[in-house]
Amino acid sequence: MFPQARRDGGRASNENLRNRVDELERTQRRLEHTVRGLAREMEASVGCLCPRCDEAYMIQTDGVMYCPACRNRTSI
Ligand SMILES: [Zn+2]
Repeated sequence: MFPQARRDGGRASNENLRNRVDELERTQRRLEHTVRGLAREMEASVGCLCPRCDEAYMIQTDGVMYCPACRNRTSI
C-alpha cells in the first residue's frame, strides 16, 4: 500500500513518514465518523475513554456505559 522508504537520505523518508501519518489521520477520522454513525443507528453514543483500560471509548446506551475492550460496565 505504501511505497518502500528510499535509502537516499533523511528527506525522502521524512516525507514518506509524513504522508503515512497524514493517511493514518484520515483513516482514523473516517473510522471515528463511522463509529459515531453506527452508535447513532443503534441509539447509543460514544463517550469518554475507558477509565479502567484506556483501550476504547465507552459506549453509552440506555443508562448504561460500557467498555467494548475490557467489559467495564457502569450505570449512569
Ligand atoms: Zn476498558
